[in-house]
Amino acid sequence: MERKSTLVSSQELSQQKEYLQMVNLFLDSKFATKPPKAFTRTYGCQGNIADSQQINGMLEEMGYDFTDDVKEADLILYNTCAVREHAQDRVFGNVGALKVLKESNPDLIIALCGCMMQQEHIAQKIQKSYSYVDLVFGTHVFYKLPEFIYKRLCENKKIVDITNSSGVIAEGITQRRDSTIKAFLPITYGCNNFCSYCVVPYVRGRERSRAFDDVMGEAKQLVASGYKEITLLGQNVNSYGKDLGVPNAFSNLLKSINDIQGDFLIRFMTSHPKDCTKELLQTIAQCEKVERHLHLPFQSGNNKVLKEMNRGYTREKYLELVKTAKELMPDISLTSDVIVGFPGETYEEFCDTLSLVEEVEFSSLYTFIYSKREGTKAANMPDNISHSEKSKWFTQLTDLQEGIASKRMAKMKGKTYRVLAEGFGKDKMISGRASNYTTIEFEAPPSVIGTFCDVEITQPLTWIARGRIKE
Ligand code: SAH
Ligand code: SF4
Repeated sequence: MERKSTLVSSQELSQQKEYLQMVNLFLDSKFATKPPKAFTRTYGCQGNIADSQQINGMLEEMGYDFTDDVKEADLILYNTCAVREHAQDRVFGNVGALKVLKESNPDLIIALCGCMMQQEHIAQKIQKSYSYVDLVFGTHVFYKLPEFIYKRLCENKKIVDITNSSGVIAEGITQRRDSTIKAFLPITYGCNNFCSYCVVPYVRGRERSRAFDDVMGEAKQLVASGYKEITLLGQNVNSYGKDLGVPNAFSNLLKSINDIQGDFLIRFMTSHPKDCTKELLQTIAQCEKVERHLHLPFQSGNNKVLKEMNRGYTREKYLELVKTAKELMPDISLTSDVIVGFPGETYEEFCDTLSLVEEVEFSSLYTFIYSKREGTKAANMPDNISHSEKSKWFTQLTDLQEGIASKRMAKMKGKTYRVLAEGFGKDKMISGRASNYTTIEFEAPPSVIGTFCDVEITQPLTWIARGRIKE
């Protein structure tokens, strides 16, 4: 099966375990009185957060403690995002600020990894302009972190490893999750869709699915450890299993996780409209643990723009999916991603995005002004609309959505929702999400955190709602 060629071999993983133990011994003797501290920061999507859980797991096993104060760190690691210019600029700014720390502590290890580093021109820029960075590595070799740290600590070597490949899967790496309530569970890595604006397929490799048994094993473990929410992750979860030659694999996976005994709920992202089928929507409707929320990015409401984006569906197909979803689940909440100012997009074409937003009535939108990404097809398309003009369109879109969101929220007043209490919101109130993904704040003792509470909505605001816990 294809899977064999994508899995990192057990031999390679045990070699990394050996490096990990050697680092552990080294740190034990060097930091005899108190363990060294790591500061790690993750930029970008949930996929990066999931990778960082493994990175932090490895660091913990090596003997690192964690700190939120960059100034007291012995190791600083940034897991970077390349999806938009803005995300990259933030990383450059933050790396620049580390120079003084390195000057005052030459033993400090600075590591940069993830999507941004997988791009050759970025890795080169880092070596040239930020020469005090010790480790630079891309998305396909992150499981080699123990080896990189060993070589830096014990052999004083700098590492740049941005090996390009179609992508690997490393199973069995210990994870360090921040939450004990909510967990991310990656089911696919990489992407095959090559939307013309997007850098992800270039920096994350080809789409590859984790084996069904590996995903199920982790899901069962999470439920047994008391996690109350599992979010299945992939750039296009709907195509899970295609590379394994298994039809309807995502629907079957949802059903199997739904059948695990226990009081927990299931979310997933991202669902690509191109691969979203009626059967999948029926599965979501049937599975009582799958939440009534669908994140279904449409990007543009205009067929010409969608074609140039290479999205693989039309406005009509998208609206048909929305109609079916609403028929099957009248209480479903829809969210989406939208790009404003794609190269060549006219104002008239942008108005089709506005009309789609009005028609669907999303609960919320993640809106982005188009950002040119080197190496993508859209980077070579003529782009004649000024940034200030695009910003005006952007505001028009966000104003429209704000009105829709408030109206939707107002309809929640007086209704009772089952809310997973996750932590604290404003004014020491408890905060959590309802099945429809709305954030709800309510007064309750901290002991409710990690449990499900029935909350009646008393005060709907635009982006969140306040409520009262029901006895
Ligand atoms: N795989 C997901 C999206 C991952 S990237 C999907 O296809 O839905 C998250 C979002 O970032 C995208 O949905 C898109 O709206 C936005 N995005 C990606 N590349 C972009 C670019 N070059 N400029 C602006 N926004 C972009
Ligand atoms: Fe990027 Fe498109 Fe893949 Fe999403 S589906 S990650 S937008 S190429």
